[in-house]
Amino acid sequence: MELPVLPRVPLACLPTPVEPLRRLLPALLPGAAGLPELLCKRDDLTSAPLSGNKVRKLELLLGEALAQGADTVITCGGVQSNHCRATALAAARLGLGSVLLLRTADPARPPALQGNLLLDRLAGAELRFITPAAYRERAALLEQTAGELRAAGRRPYVIPEGGSNALGSLGYALAVQELAGQLGEPWTRRPLTLCHATGSGGTGAGLLLGVAALGLPWRVAGFNVCDDRAYFVRVMGVILDDAARRFHLPAAAALSERRDAFDVRDGYVGRGYALSRPEELALLAEACRLEGLVLDPVYTGKALFGLVAELKQDPAALGEAVVFFHTGGIFGLFDEDKALALAGLL
Ligand SMILES: *Cc1c(COP(=O)(O)O)cnc(C)c1O
Repeated sequence: MELPVLPRVPLACLPTPVEPLRRLLPALLPGAAGLPELLCKRDDLTSAPLSGNKVRKLELLLGEALAQGADTVITCGGVQSNHCRATALAAARLGLGSVLLLRTADPARPPALQGNLLLDRLAGAELRFITPAAYRERAALLEQTAGELRAAGRRPYVIPEGGSNALGSLGYALAVQELAGQLGEPWTRRPLTLCHATGSGGTGAGLLLGVAALGLPWRVAGFNVCDDRAYFVRVMGVILDDAARRFHLPAAAALSERRDAFDVRDGYVGRGYALSRPEELALLAEACRLEGLVLDPVYTGKALFGLVAELKQDPAALGEAVVFFHTGGIFGLFDEDKALALAGLL
């Protein structure tokens, strides 16, 4: 089955490389027999500083925004949101304005301009800080903000949290197509497992859809960095239902029928979203030392921590070969110097 052809603004440097990680698992799990072959899909290299997984979603979302004649995009996220930073930079690149609703403990005392937030400001985004309580009503708040802008004569386009709706997630269905083309035979006949960090569900839904639509014998395993498995099964189900309706994709409808089979590996949220444990940071440091691979503490570091923990229990837990999607997030690391020092890693 074909994936739909939709307006897409070229923002990402594609294809992103696929690289073997040969030293990591043997060093972390010495003596373990039957470890999988490990490859890394370098979606941290979609561009720089417009990096990470949100860029693939934004190619489609901003394609639609431009087609609709929008002049401003509105989105939301945590204060160090990679998605908001990518949106602000992509909007600037296309000559659009951006309004970001950013969750922070005390909006009256906004955090220092560091990491992603620094780039949001440099890109000229309008920053609106909101409380965690207000953030729970984010969908309504985004619409309300759009109403305000419309009343002021602007033409807003709303992008949901993480760019994770049906349209955005198709960016990851296309990423599966890209990966299959890069790997070719015999990989496209092997039982690969695509591993990734799950934060708002769009990447996972898109990967599932890509694998199903292309009829590949691959599995998708997400490691959630917030909420829980039940939450993401529901969220991905909704995204796939919307994709089925909007783009007439039987594969998406069929997947949504099998929600019980969504592979979300719960148990690695740790201290909570964007909060790190010393053992997670230690793994991040090891990956950097062993492979020159720079992970982020919020998403990819936790996902790799989960992946290694699962393999420690059972080297066959993820099949014979794994492609780990490095989904970016590097700027979040530059906020973690104190935690890294505390953990004795610097
Ligand atoms: C947003 C993000 C994710 C999670 O992707 P979702 O599609 O929101 O589940 C993973 N890694 C990084 C670095 C991210 O910024």
